[in-house]
Amino acid sequence: MEKNSKGRKKYRLRKKTLLACVLAAGLIFIAGRICFRAGGNDGRAKTGLAGAGMSFPVPQEADGPQEDAQDRARQEVLEQAERMAASYDYDGAIALLTAAEGYETDSGMQERAAAYGAVKETCVPVSMEEVTHVFYHSLVVDPDRAFSGQDTDPQAAGNNQWMTTIREFEKITQEMYDRGYVIVGIHDLIEETTDENGNTVYSPARIMLPPGKRAYVLSQDDLSYYHCYDNYGFASRMVLDENGKPICEYIEEDGTHVRGAYDVVPLLDAFIEEHPDASYRGAKGLIALTGYNGILGYRTDDSYLDVNGNINEDKKNWLAEHPDFDIEQERAGAKQVADAMKAGGWEFASHTWGHIRIGEVGLERLMYDTQKWRENVEPIVGPTDAIVFAHGQDLGEWGDYEESNAKYRYLREQGYRVFCNVDSNLYRTWFGRDYLRQGRRNLDGLRIYFNAIGEQDNIGDLFDAGTVLDPDRPPVQRVK
Ligand SMILES: [Zn+2]
Repeated sequence: MEKNSKGRKKYRLRKKTLLACVLAAGLIFIAGRICFRAGGNDGRAKTGLAGAGMSFPVPQEADGPQEDAQDRARQEVLEQAERMAASYDYDGAIALLTAAEGYETDSGMQERAAAYGAVKETCVPVSMEEVTHVFYHSLVVDPDRAFSGQDTDPQAAGNNQWMTTIREFEKITQEMYDRGYVIVGIHDLIEETTDENGNTVYSPARIMLPPGKRAYVLSQDDLSYYHCYDNYGFASRMVLDENGKPICEYIEEDGTHVRGAYDVVPLLDAFIEEHPDASYRGAKGLIALTGYNGILGYRTDDSYLDVNGNINEDKKNWLAEHPDFDIEQERAGAKQVADAMKAGGWEFASHTWGHIRIGEVGLERLMYDTQKWRENVEPIVGPTDAIVFAHGQDLGEWGDYEESNAKYRYLREQGYRVFCNVDSNLYRTWFGRDYLRQGRRNLDGLRIYFNAIGEQDNIGDLFDAGTVLDPDRPPVQRVK
């Protein structure tokens, strides 16, 4: 990341009204359990300059294999540069072109580089105060399986409140793209510098986008495919396709296993592949993981080894159905997927190992939980400095965390610097001295439904809820 000598700079956001606090508190209350039962193209940019009518000389007719190879190499450089420029990395695209063989005498490449430079000049800085953060849970593949019986089945009622369907996700993603929204990585927001005393200082980074574009961060929580999701019409785990790209496995009602884009990761990957200008420099989302049921649909947690111990019915049943369970195989499978996701621009965060209520647990429980995450999840997804609190809870009031807050001090010692909660405000970003806090907006059944029927009005900046609402979603019940 580019360094500068800017002094410490904080974004003091608008003072919150009492109403906002009440809404946030309500969310903290309602953003509860995810399990509701008892217990536990060809790759070429289609947009950007190519779409803006730019052209470059057609390669000259080749005379032989050597010329062929040169033309191919040239074409590849041009395509790669086009893709970088489409995702707003104009400097990278120009550097690639100017370093290419023959650039000095290639007027086509030179024109291209000059055009990228011209577009870069038109870019304007993103206001960090206006970077919204949206989040999802695992997407509903089959609304019928997910929601039916909601009057008597708390899991179905919960699914209807907290989950988004694939159709809704696709419409939201398209509509936000059409409105100029561009995904940025949460770490793209941060400029890290060192002050005169050698201390790390965070300040808002400078993200430059063409006029009319708006940046947003996306996250997905609980990408574990918990046992409680079984038979409710969600994907069952992440796997790799024949090209090594992450996709999902889904078990049909009749038990047939199929593979495809049944959740956020492969759907967004495909969207950005087709629309590289939907993402700032290839950024994707932040995946927040617990550990207690494993991750990504793999039963990676050491609790599954404790067959005679204190494990719950879900795990006992699963183990009984999987006599060949091999934790090392599960961990290897999960790691393959995690590696492919990271290579594709996804980042990982802790969601706490046990989906704990950070505001309510004692320090000892937090320490135990953090160690469990470190032992069971970190070896698979790698270290992270981001923690996305479960149940929408937080460590303290909005603003700077108190240094006297023991749980905050402990999480800092453990290396956490990015802290996210849940919040109804359009934008909620706070730069602490050397950490970042961000509130996130749930794009789920509750939010979409109550906006669609006109009982809430807090999503219109992103999309029109009426057109997004899945016709197969039954009325969402209010959280009691
Ligand atoms: Zn969660």
